[in-house]
Amino acid sequence: MSEAIKTDVLIIGAGPCGLFAVFELGLLDMKVHLVDILDKIGGQCAELYPEKPIYDIPGIPLVTGQGLTEALLEQIKPFNPTFHLNEMVESIEKIGDPGFRVTTDAGQVFECKVVVVSAGGGSFQPKRPPVPGIEAYENTSVFYAVRKMEQFRDKEILIVGGGDSALDWTLNLHPLAKRMTLLHRRDDFRAAPHSVEQMRKLVADGKMDLKIGQVTALEGADGKLSGAQVKGSDNAMSTVSCDTMLPFFGLTMKLGPVANWGLHLENNLIPVETASFETNVPGIFAIGDINTYPGKLKLILSGFHEGALMAQKAHRYVYPDKRLVFQYTTSSSSLQKKLGVN
Ligand SMILES: Cc1cc2nc3c(=O)[nH]c(=O)nc-3n(C[C@H](O)[C@H](O)[C@H](O)COP(=O)(O)OP(=O)(O)OC[C@H]3O[C@@H](n4cnc5c(N)ncnc54)[C@H](O)[C@@H]3O)c2cc1C
Repeated sequence: MSEAIKTDVLIIGAGPCGLFAVFELGLLDMKVHLVDILDKIGGQCAELYPEKPIYDIPGIPLVTGQGLTEALLEQIKPFNPTFHLNEMVESIEKIGDPGFRVTTDAGQVFECKVVVVSAGGGSFQPKRPPVPGIEAYENTSVFYAVRKMEQFRDKEILIVGGGDSALDWTLNLHPLAKRMTLLHRRDDFRAAPHSVEQMRKLVADGKMDLKIGQVTALEGADGKLSGAQVKGSDNAMSTVSCDTMLPFFGLTMKLGPVANWGLHLENNLIPVETASFETNVPGIFAIGDINTYPGKLKLILSGFHEGALMAQKAHRYVYPDKRLVFQYTTSSSSLQKKLGVN
């Protein structure tokens, strides 16, 4: 076990909400380390939809998941946070009032005054469709996320599913694909009506195929897919020729070790009060998708707000003797100095 790293605040999860929390904490002079299971920074934005546009970040009409991650990294640069990637936080032990010892599966130990849980849905994993032998094609012909759209240029793609991810990727990838087929078990989609309309127009124009049914078996060899056997709603069997399959059956949110940290849980989410987003354990806060409270919206902008309020209360734990004066970045020369702009 390595020597304990001492820090003011330890953030669990380097998704967008964890990243923005670094900014709010930094403005109030709190030093931060972040831990994430993934090998990259950005949480769902970087892992699940790096190239998809987001339209509801205040003041930014359009930014991709990766673009937002990069912008947040740029914004928190002045505070020089330290990232510990490919590590999962396993345990949190109370050692002070408040004060915590946090340990990762790599044996790294942190000692901090405040813990911020911004663990999203925990360790999220795509749901695997019930198709025999699908594992043999995973990561060669079957993919559960689109990391680089270019990878799918000139492919014969079969997208399976009826939700937003299935429809969005159908629309985004069809211009690159050699042939695009969307397969859903019924002719009724959960996705946004506008996306469904666009998809139906492409089908009517002969630019892609829509099939109703379920994949029962895959054809191919050595991890290379050549087709999928489909059972239609009328029980008729057919084969869809494809070299790539993208099933979007949703994600299983595996809470993982979060369940063992002594925090109250409600439906696998951490209840918080809404003045500071603190949990039932003083000094441990929960922000972003992982928390719950009346009216909660799982939006990035909600997590940003939660991070700002969390930092105000965290300051009391880290600097119990200092009075906090509210300041604007526009007009405070001391905040501007911290940001390196003055
Ligand atoms: C396809 C799609 C489109 C979306 N579009 C929008 C949109 O347009 N607008 C919008 O506002 N929101 C959108 N969202 C939702 C948005 O991505 C989430 O609200 C946001 O990512 C939540 O951020 P977070 O920081 O709370 O958690 P996450 O982004 O989930 O990050 C949490 C991180 O915590 C890590 N973690 C979990 N447990 C541990 C542990 N024990 N130890 C270490 N690390 C851990 C995970 O690996 C993960 O990286 C979309 C989501 C999806 C899937």
